[in-house]
Order: sequence, then C-alpha cells, then structure tokens
Amino acid sequence: MAGEPQADCLFCKIVAGEIPATVVRKGEHTLAFRDIHPQAPTHILVVPHAHHPNAAALAAAEPLVAAELLTEAAAVAAGEGLSDYRLIFNTGAGAGQTVFHAHVHVLGGRPLREGMV
Ligand code: C5P
Repeated sequence: MAGEPQADCLFCKIVAGEIPATVVRKGEHTLAFRDIHPQAPTHILVVPHAHHPNAAALAAAEPLVAAELLTEAAAVAAGEGLSDYRLIFNTGAGAGQTVFHAHVHVLGGRPLREGMV
C-alpha cells in the first residue's frame, strides 16, 4: 500500500532507526539527516516518514507532507546559517536517483554555480 514502509528501502530503515544517520531535524512527518557522501559543506536530505518512490508521488498522495518537506528544508538551511542554498529532487535513475524513497537534497555552504546542475 502507498506510504507503507518497504523492507528493502534504505530510507525507511533510517526513519525506523534501523540504520544509523546523523539526524539534524525531526519534523512531524519528516526526518532530516546529513548525506553520507556530502557534495557541499552542507548536504542534508529531508525525507518523509512514509514511503513514496519520489517527490511527485509524495505530493500526489500526501500534499501536506510534501509541503512539510519544503518547510523543513528551509528550516534545515536556516539552522545551517544559509540564506542561499539549492534544493534538488532527483526523479528516476536517468536523473541520478539512487534511493527510491522521496527526498530533497539541501545543498549549500559554498558557491553553487549557476545553471540547472
Ligand atoms: O537523489 P539520490 O537518490 O541520488 O540521493 C540519494 C542520496 O542518499 C545520495 O546522495 C547518497 O549519498 C545518500 N545516502 C545517504 N546515506 C546512505 C545511503 C545513501 O546519505 N546510507
């Protein structure tokens, strides 16, 4: 069923506390933790507790939680002292998505070059 934890999902296991992560913030329906392979001085992932394969599926199923993902991402950036930051939602393997549990990357702390990537 949509939203139910998936046994083979890494982020479901992090949400459940079964795999360790450096948690920086807990929202009502979301969890924020540091990316294990940071691409910038700040690289934090915000994920919904519920399992959805990508952000669009989350928004379709639980729009209020999708909105919480954004407000939590902004709170994470503020907590890191960032006024400028980048949010990335990779969707599909061809776009670089490797974990098929909705998440947003919060990147900042260094100059991020202009453009889409
Ligand atoms: O958007 P994408 O699916 O590629 O992002 C998944 C992210 O999850 C990667 O940046 C990867 O470094 C991160 N990751 C993590 N902790 C893990 C496994 C992956 O932070 N245990």
